[in-house]
Amino acid sequence: MADKLYYPHPELAKNAYCSSLEQYRKMHEISVKNPQEFWSEIAKEFYWETPATEDKFFSYNFDLNKGDIFIKWMEGASTNISFNLLDKNVKSGNGDKIAFYWEGNDPDDYSRLTYRKLLEEVCRFANVLKSKGVTKGDRVAIYMPMILELPIAMLACTRIGAVHSVVFGGYSSDSLAERIMDSKAKILITTDGVWRGEKLLILKSICDEALKKVKKNSHEVECCIVVAHLRRLSSPQSAKSDSTGKTNGVNGTSDNAFDIPEIPWDDDRDCWWHDEVEDAEDKCYPVWMNAEDPLFILYTSGSTGKPKGVLHTTAGYLIYAATTFKYVFDYHPSDVYWCTADVGWITGHTYVVYGPLANGATSIIFEGTPFYPENDRYWAVIDKYKVTQFYTAPTAIRSLMKFGDDLVKKHDLSTLKVLGSVGEPINAEAWLWFYNLVGHGKCSISDTFWQTETGGHVITPLPGATPMKPGAASFPFFGVLPEILDEDGHLVEGEGEGYLVFRQPWPGMMRTLYGNHQRFQSTYFDKFHGYYCTGDGARRDADGYFWITGRVDDMLNVSGHLMSTAEVESVLTEHSSVAEAAVVSKPHPVKGQCLYCFITPNEGAKFDKKLQDELKKRVRERIGPFAQPDVVQYAPGLPKTRSGKIMRRILRKIAAGDRNVGDISTLADESIVNVLFQLRSQV
Ligand code: ATP
Ligand code: MG
Repeated sequence: MADKLYYPHPELAKNAYCSSLEQYRKMHEISVKNPQEFWSEIAKEFYWETPATEDKFFSYNFDLNKGDIFIKWMEGASTNISFNLLDKNVKSGNGDKIAFYWEGNDPDDYSRLTYRKLLEEVCRFANVLKSKGVTKGDRVAIYMPMILELPIAMLACTRIGAVHSVVFGGYSSDSLAERIMDSKAKILITTDGVWRGEKLLILKSICDEALKKVKKNSHEVECCIVVAHLRRLSSPQSAKSDSTGKTNGVNGTSDNAFDIPEIPWDDDRDCWWHDEVEDAEDKCYPVWMNAEDPLFILYTSGSTGKPKGVLHTTAGYLIYAATTFKYVFDYHPSDVYWCTADVGWITGHTYVVYGPLANGATSIIFEGTPFYPENDRYWAVIDKYKVTQFYTAPTAIRSLMKFGDDLVKKHDLSTLKVLGSVGEPINAEAWLWFYNLVGHGKCSISDTFWQTETGGHVITPLPGATPMKPGAASFPFFGVLPEILDEDGHLVEGEGEGYLVFRQPWPGMMRTLYGNHQRFQSTYFDKFHGYYCTGDGARRDADGYFWITGRVDDMLNVSGHLMSTAEVESVLTEHSSVAEAAVVSKPHPVKGQCLYCFITPNEGAKFDKKLQDELKKRVRERIGPFAQPDVVQYAPGLPKTRSGKIMRRILRKIAAGDRNVGDISTLADESIVNVLFQLRSQV
């Protein structure tokens, strides 16, 4: 059956940077055949203290048979990222443009920051870091909620050549300690605490525990700089007098003054951000960095096991973040862009901080959750700021679908032009809801496939150019050359399914795993020599569209039939009673393996024998008799990483009744594991 195509809205296509499939194909061809020509043209839009050496623009080895793996872009060039993101925008007349709107957890808390002000604050904090002895190459750990000081701290690092390592502010003290030890960070930047929905979290206490552990096992973190975020929220008076746009203030604050619990303090190590910046100069000459100097370390979400410290470098990441942002969201100067990802994930690095600022964009930093104060918060924020591009994750879309359509319809979402999805395969049901209801049938959806390792989007539609198929990530971005390989490493030509790999590097891809080049080589380059192996499966259809089928480790194998998780889960979620589904295989005495499905029903839907039978029948009819699930279990929730991805390796253990679930420290809610084991016994 041919898939229905959804064409870009003519208005969107007319004004788009890439406005037809032909134009996309032409640009893509140049970008992969002659990367130097393509990327050096783009590099001209940025400032280089020294230009790249012509004959060394690009070099790499992807083949372990030929020696160590390396990737280098723009050798010889030097630049500074904060200079390109800030000074360049201010100099070109964008100084008064809003860089970030800040929207607090409480809708009454908000603030904003212009490019000029952001530059000053970054310089101030860069001077603070210098005064603490931080120099080029030092690692700085950042453990913060979504507040303006987070991008300020990151960019201050880049100003002086320090390497930031942002740790998601929802991680436990153990996870934080592990990441500080691995990166040997010299300094930690945090806040006193944060409100997440109705929950108050004292981040500084978590930091103290982590730092104790680091000191015992690894090294001493010399200094901890703390933003008094709770304090400014709790005393509206002091915050309101600060309405000059100064970043430390909150322009609007709720009147719900609250008592701040005691914050643990070590006088020899800890200091307040506001005390430090008070007398710091608001100018700081940038440190010119070589193209391949490290920019940041970021740990992967840990869906598959121990997180990996992915290292990105300067020049290539800058041009790739900038270019993907421009084309994939088709950002134009008067647009207001919003990415809901936390800066603690790669999506937040590339598409909250670096990509938008490199394009002089106005965007939103949102501290809260989709469910507070009500389940329509996302739609309210889009309405409030007249958002034009909205980028979120399938897990959020599915959880909001559960509440029905009225919450969406209550708000004016007519400014939206482009919608984005990232993190997991998006099932057709969620795609269509997003398209029809949120995007009122007029917006393009960019289903962006990428990884912490890839630095930016690698397979994605372009909003003005690509006819969309619900659930297909579609075509490679400029510079990206994907292939599909079978188990033996043979190329799958034309239609077919297998391992998704890349044949050559693009500027924004990772360079190594921090301090562990061996692990880098064995994880990504050992399975198929000559290719970067993503660990994800993909299918190419008759029209050449790529469909991501999920992680290869999660593949389902029943009586010799290989199926992807995405394929089966997509069929299950089409049922009107199903909000979320996760499928794993379970050992079976005859078939070898059978399918075991976990189902979260929609609000108000009943989970009973009738639903179980309907779902089994549906999978049998749509995929084949061999695929009929043996078990359909009720799941009030699913084990997810803190970035919202389903951890199927844990579900496999539950299905098998094996209590030995391994490391669950990256789970958002560990208690769900026990709940699912208990429900299992009732199946
Ligand atoms: P770890 O590598 O530690 O197990 P992780 O892979 O979840 O964690 P990320 O780098 O944040 O960490 O996520 C990248 C993965 O997310 C991809 O490899 C893929 O499995 C999935 N993914 C991201 N975007 C999409 C998408 N649009 N469609 C399908 N899958 C996606
Ligand atoms: Mg991964």
